Amino acid sequence: MDIQNQIHDIQKRIQDSAARVGRNPSDILLLAVSKTVSSDNIQKAYDAGLKDFGENRMQEALEKIPLLPWDVRWHMIGQLQTNKINKTLGRFVLIHSIDSPELAQAVSKRQGDLTQDVLLEVNTSGEPSKSGVDPAQTLLAAQTLSRLPHLKLKGLMTVGPLTENISKQRDAFKKLKELFEQIGSKKSLGDSFSILSMGMSGDFEMAIEEGSTLVRVGSAIFGARA
Ligand SMILES: *Cc1c(COP(=O)(O)O)cnc(C)c1O
Repeated sequence: MDIQNQIHDIQKRIQDSAARVGRNPSDILLLAVSKTVSSDNIQKAYDAGLKDFGENRMQEALEKIPLLPWDVRWHMIGQLQTNKINKTLGRFVLIHSIDSPELAQAVSKRQGDLTQDVLLEVNTSGEPSKSGVDPAQTLLAAQTLSRLPHLKLKGLMTVGPLTENISKQRDAFKKLKELFEQIGSKKSLGDSFSILSMGMSGDFEMAIEEGSTLVRVGSAIFGARA
């Protein structure tokens, strides 16, 4: 299948998952994860109607951004090193991978007059290889982030556990949704707290059933990565 057909297939699956739980599919954003994908293939996905693309490595993103149309909305989804923060400035509509209050502080400090939209990444699986704050620390971390002058905390992000165990996968998404509602109910965090970034190629349908508003899909659009 070509990229355009894969995208249509995924859009259909997003609609079906939303319908199963009575959600409006237009409340769910499809983010095409374009790491390792050539700019020609990103262009094909753009031509098929996608505008949001996610990269996980700074250097690769900086090389590709100038090759694609100006109105692409780039997202940073990979771990950010403190020494690369300056390079994010004004380039990403959303940074999904803020995984500590310290990193948040560092990003806020470099913004100049700008304000960066961010998500707080939560380690819902407890796997040591995964980044993100501990679920038990999430509320406190969200409060800390919301006080930073040049960040806007828009929501939460997680990478589901690496397991064949379906109920463990679902539990991770349920956990993130629970935290999302808990934080969203705090008046101090306001209405701008609206994005729940969870679900990838292998689990986006389940994530939508559990409340995801943004699915990050790479290989199901572009094929397996080398
Ligand atoms: C690579 C990546 C994805 C996409 O993974 P696929 O399984 O190819 O859909 C989503 N989120 C993050 C953070 C990633 O690094």
